[in-house]
Amino acid sequence: MSHPTVAPGTNFIRNIIEEDLASGKHKTVVTRFPPEPNGYLHIGHAKSICLNFGLANYYQGRCHLRFDDTNPVKEEQEYIDAIKADVSWLGFDWGAHEYHASDYFEALYGYAETLVEKGLAYVCDLSPEEMRAYRGTLTTPGKESPYRKRSSKESLDLLRRMRAGEFADGSRVLRARIDMTSPNLNLRDPILYRILRATHPRTGNAWCIYPMYDFAHGQSDSLERITHSLCTLEFQDHRPLYDWLCEALEIYHPQQIEFARLNLTYTVMSKRRLLELVNEKHVSGWDDPRMPTLSGMRRRGFPPAAIRTFCERIGVGKSDSVIDMSVLEDCVREHLDQTAPRAMGVLRPLKVTITNYPEGQTEEFTAARHPKDPAMGNRTIPFSREIYIDQDDFMEEPPKQFFRLGPGREVRLRYGYVIRCDDVIKDPVSGEVIELRCSYDAATGGGALPEGRKKVKGIIHWLSVAHALPVEVRLYDRLFSVANPAGVKDRDYRELLNAEALEALAQAFVEPGLAGASSGESFQFERLGYFCVDTKDSKPDRLVFNRSVTLRDAWTKPETKGNQP
Ligand code: ATP
Ligand code: MG
Repeated sequence: MSHPTVAPGTNFIRNIIEEDLASGKHKTVVTRFPPEPNGYLHIGHAKSICLNFGLANYYQGRCHLRFDDTNPVKEEQEYIDAIKADVSWLGFDWGAHEYHASDYFEALYGYAETLVEKGLAYVCDLSPEEMRAYRGTLTTPGKESPYRKRSSKESLDLLRRMRAGEFADGSRVLRARIDMTSPNLNLRDPILYRILRATHPRTGNAWCIYPMYDFAHGQSDSLERITHSLCTLEFQDHRPLYDWLCEALEIYHPQQIEFARLNLTYTVMSKRRLLELVNEKHVSGWDDPRMPTLSGMRRRGFPPAAIRTFCERIGVGKSDSVIDMSVLEDCVREHLDQTAPRAMGVLRPLKVTITNYPEGQTEEFTAARHPKDPAMGNRTIPFSREIYIDQDDFMEEPPKQFFRLGPGREVRLRYGYVIRCDDVIKDPVSGEVIELRCSYDAATGGGALPEGRKKVKGIIHWLSVAHALPVEVRLYDRLFSVANPAGVKDRDYRELLNAEALEALAQAFVEPGLAGASSGESFQFERLGYFCVDTKDSKPDRLVFNRSVTLRDAWTKPETKGNQP
């Protein structure tokens, strides 16, 4: 597997690493990506993955994939498998360095005993409600627990009996003995261990006490000799605890460095909300192409290289910001423009009969599979008397700047002839336009324009009725109809879901040459956007295409109504 280094533009983390290497503090760089296996990865995680693996690759160090699996109630093997698949898909390789915080349960427990023996931790019997009351607030100091004075000997005995399963869930905890008056609430004797009878995906029922995140995380970093422990800004207030624990235990002390998390418009990124969307069936699953998950984006047809480019482009900083979804979509367009073969597709077909073209006759036009990459070769496009065009390319009363088809107007069929609309046929009952009768100019085939002939501005895509391949096309749009769904007052974010985020078109057609397209393959449907073969619902005789992105950003700029190339 390749090792992409996300070309780390100068950022403050790189500066710290450069200094550490120059001063001899470190000889190599060891980072880690530490997901909790309680959901699927999303584009925010991609930022962290690209940063951690990108830096390690750049400095020829290593990056560990560590599952922070300390909460057995919410964790599942399904998530572990999905996370590994997503990191690999993004193009990163942890080699032999897959770890689990649960691998260290015995070592972590040993650290807990050490702290008790040193008088730096104690078993506390306060109820959760009492504990909250004793904790104080941001403006008032906390109060010491009466159990804080317990001897090391008594706490050690109780800790061992906690582990042995003698006490009920939640009846006792192990706490660090730090400072109940600290202005930092994380230092007011934080909980290190709790009693919890839950089957763990990896350790089964071996344990009935589990370490808290803050206790497991830094100690796991230390055991793995992580040099730079990169996390998001909300952990800044936890850093004093991270440092305190390493110092109290006198163990190898990695440096925690915080960076701003990624926020994107028109979506939500909290795993809790994503899980709700899945469980309440607002989407079809974690890999629904509307989801900001990596599996959703993969299914939607976003190339992993586009996501890496995006992570590079947004950079790494120290203040929170919100990135516009169009930045990500632009990266997707840029990559697909280079790699996706071109094809024609008709999404909402309108039949056109070319009245002066002989019945039963067929001819083939030749077109490049990619205008900028001759190595992709050519494709042939059959033409005959009956064709489909897209309903959008005809208007009965077109405005001036509409260069497509209208009564009496001419348009060029891409790669083919110029046709003129002579007649509009309507359904006698509904009045809906059901067919156009056109005539073609035989001298204009294959894009030719005889000298002196009136120029034709519009070019539209089309397919021969007899040859077109019927498919389903799913148009995707942004999951939410407002930029910041989690930030709208008095409205639940679920009320702000974009009802038009999925539109399934069951009567669409594509060029016959796409019949053998493989699962996940991407194409540009000319004038329409980038589409990929759905990996789940496509059948060999009935392909389903997902729209990855439109050709242009229709959200920030008004869509050009004129001819598109
Ligand atoms: P939660 O803590 O609610 O379960 P999380 O988003 O913190 O969710 P983790 O599995 O703990 O999920 O995340 C793994 C790593 O990815 C962490 O180091 C975290 O800082 C990082 N990460 C998560 N979300 C983002 C984001 N939006 N931008 C950048 N990094 C992120
Ligand atoms: Mg987390």
